[in-house]
Amino acid sequence: MQVQKPYRVLLYYKYVHLDNYEEYAAEHLAFCKELGLKGRIIVAPEGLNGTVSGTVEQTDAYMEFVRKDPRFADIWFKIDEADGHAFKKMFVRAKKELVTWRLKDDFHPTELTGKYLSPKEFYEMLQRDDVVVLDGRNEYEYELGHFRGAIRPGVESSREFPEWIRENMSQFKDKKVLTYCTGGIRCEKLTGVLMKEGFEEVYQLHGGIVTYGKDPEVKGRLWDGKCYVFDERISVKINQTEEDVVISSCYYCGKPEDRYVNCANPFCNKQHFCCTECEVKYKRSCSDECREHPRNRYVEEEKANLQAAGAKE
Ligand SMILES: [Zn+2]
Ligand SMILES: [Zn+2]
Repeated sequence: MQVQKPYRVLLYYKYVHLDNYEEYAAEHLAFCKELGLKGRIIVAPEGLNGTVSGTVEQTDAYMEFVRKDPRFADIWFKIDEADGHAFKKMFVRAKKELVTWRLKDDFHPTELTGKYLSPKEFYEMLQRDDVVVLDGRNEYEYELGHFRGAIRPGVESSREFPEWIRENMSQFKDKKVLTYCTGGIRCEKLTGVLMKEGFEEVYQLHGGIVTYGKDPEVKGRLWDGKCYVFDERISVKINQTEEDVVISSCYYCGKPEDRYVNCANPFCNKQHFCCTECEVKYKRSCSDECREHPRNRYVEEEKANLQAAGAKE
């Protein structure tokens, strides 16, 4: 039997009207800090969205705290086991929206959303001819891994989706549209946006990619690469079968690589795939200009390491 790891990462959301969202956020923050949880939580008039890490005991206490509130009694926590915390700090923010969509005619997913598909139903639908699959995330997430045959989303944030769909998806009006995202929250509104744009049969992967990867029957099949996550792990494995492959390549040498790094120029920060050899060779910098930047973090780290080594002698 596998030994349970000492920590957990929770991923969860629920769209539900909250009248006192600012108060609820403050109460949430106080509780999480006292408990010693770390992570990021958003509280908005339309609901709750969070990802946090903590020990098994801490996360148990947190889930109990959330579910004790009748508005969240049925909230779904997606649980990953972990060796330690996946965040450095604890943030709880009261915001206008759970995901920044800024829709002109905003709506609540309890009133308009696509049909939910279980991992098994999604897997079966993926293989039909009358279906298109739209990745409901950002382009850099798609690049690390996606469902085989999914449409590449040419967006850097959810806000760009409505216009992008109008410009790129009209040819698929007669198809069924499947969408997916990490834990499901972005598809709640993305499917509604598609329906408003005139797509009639719109479906979303219930529980998102992370749930799909844990399904004992589908085992993450038809997922290529890894799944980007918004914590220190950066990515998680989804396809549990032998078909698991690396689909991205090193920015510098082109070899298969799924290691994401940020450009060492703090004013650039561009996220790119980089192998360990090229990181040294190119100082983790995406251009000559970034490499020679006076504030280059790689150069500063190198200096600090040299000094530390010198101090030991
Ligand atoms: Zn390389
Ligand atoms: Zn750069």
